[in-house]
Amino acid sequence: MSGGDDVTSSGQTDRRRAGDDAQVIVVGAGPAGATMAAYLARAGVDVLMLEKSTFPREKVCGDGLTPRGVKQLIDLGIDTSEEAGWLHNKGLRVLGGGVTMELDWPQLATFPPYGVVRPRQDFDQLLADHAVRAGARMLQNTTVTGAVVEDRTGRVTGVRAKTGPERTQVAYRAPLVIACDGVSARLALSVGIDKRDDRPMGVAVRRYYRSPRTNDDYLESHLELWDRSDPGEPRLLPGYGWLFPVGDGTVNAGLGILSTSKAYGRTDYRALMKTWLAGTPEEWGFREENAVGKIQGAALPMGFNRTPHYQAGLLLVGDAGGMVNPFNGEGIAYAMESAKLAADCVIHALARPTAASREQALRHYPVAVRQALGGYYRMGGIFSKLIGNPLVMRVATRYGMPIEPLMRRFVLKLLAGLYDPKDGDVMDRLITTATRLTPSA
Ligand SMILES: Cc1cc2nc3c(=O)[nH]c(=O)nc-3n(C[C@H](O)[C@H](O)[C@H](O)COP(=O)(O)OP(=O)(O)OC[C@H]3O[C@@H](n4cnc5c(N)ncnc54)[C@H](O)[C@@H]3O)c2cc1C
Repeated sequence: MSGGDDVTSSGQTDRRRAGDDAQVIVVGAGPAGATMAAYLARAGVDVLMLEKSTFPREKVCGDGLTPRGVKQLIDLGIDTSEEAGWLHNKGLRVLGGGVTMELDWPQLATFPPYGVVRPRQDFDQLLADHAVRAGARMLQNTTVTGAVVEDRTGRVTGVRAKTGPERTQVAYRAPLVIACDGVSARLALSVGIDKRDDRPMGVAVRRYYRSPRTNDDYLESHLELWDRSDPGEPRLLPGYGWLFPVGDGTVNAGLGILSTSKAYGRTDYRALMKTWLAGTPEEWGFREENAVGKIQGAALPMGFNRTPHYQAGLLLVGDAGGMVNPFNGEGIAYAMESAKLAADCVIHALARPTAASREQALRHYPVAVRQALGGYYRMGGIFSKLIGNPLVMRVATRYGMPIEPLMRRFVLKLLAGLYDPKDGDVMDRLITTATRLTPSA
């Protein structure tokens, strides 16, 4: 953008300069990118979404959405009914400290009372199609290799990419670029925005298994993983596990480890997963002969571990901005939430006649994400440090699990970010106050 000179004689902002390929380029068509592109296109913005893979494609994930994620789908206008192919769940089953409990999702004004599971292979295609139907243009098989930065101003004015079967080198230009390229964050790295070491990180692996547990009303979370190869002496393993029913004959089984744990970076995660699952009941089916595909893993960038979220024409959204919730490793909901906040700022920026005023609207994005999640993520960072200590975790599981139902509901609300910020009950007010009092991440 080059100042007030790009206002046309009709008084409209000519948001595009000669030679631009779009008003906004969105890099990556995962949940962050597709949500961003859908909101922008709906507002009449000419948006070009560049995606390195070709749909349908697999994405390593647990495939589970809490009501926080479902709210984002509903906001986007997506039909989340079971008839439309979503497997609903009514809460979280937590196992730990010798106790199993089923916690139903809370009844709230802000969030629906159900979560869903849908494999990312299908989920991501559905979201990308939604964005295209809203008017976004999508180029698949197009890998962005870095930002185009204008020498004179230092602003990002486009991206370099390799596209098509011939991997043709191209540049696409637009006054604004949105990095939704996930944890690899290639675009942010190309302009020197590095990962912050003072924020938590996680690593997680998952695999699908054919299992009779494929239909379950609850997502299942294992606070302790046991090696039961010696039946006389079970051994506690590092990490936390999940078993998410997919409803198609399979279960998505996986585990994660936080960077605050000593085992982080020093563990063979695939071997760990096999050891844990070998100790689960035979009839659940988590054995080699029932496995579908390989064990695959990826990093979980948490608690805003890449900032600034806005810099000279480039916005970081979703995993690219480290938006995963440090309390529970959930990332889809937050990728979509940050996309919505970013889209709002971009739409407002593009409607303004001068460069200075547009810049002001764009600078609001980091403020908006901090206001929405900063205090909560800071608390999550402290939480992740605490539970990285096995002693704290052991005490918390042993003595925390049998606590009163009321307390358990409080913990679920806190860990899953499911509270009404404005008109909730006493637990909601307590969490809201704590997040406001905690200095932002
Ligand atoms: C094992 C595991 C389990 C998880 N389980 C859950 C779960 O159950 N629920 C949950 O909410 N979250 C879960 N998460 C986190 C969740 O997967 C992420 O937070 C979420 O996918 C972030 O969305 P995103 O759009 O920001 O990034 P991504 O989903 O990673 O999307 C990025 C997109 O950009 C594309 N891309 C990347 N680089 C380029 C490039 N250079 N050029 C062009 N395109 C590019 C990619 O192909 C991809 O389509 C899990 C993560 C892992 C690793």
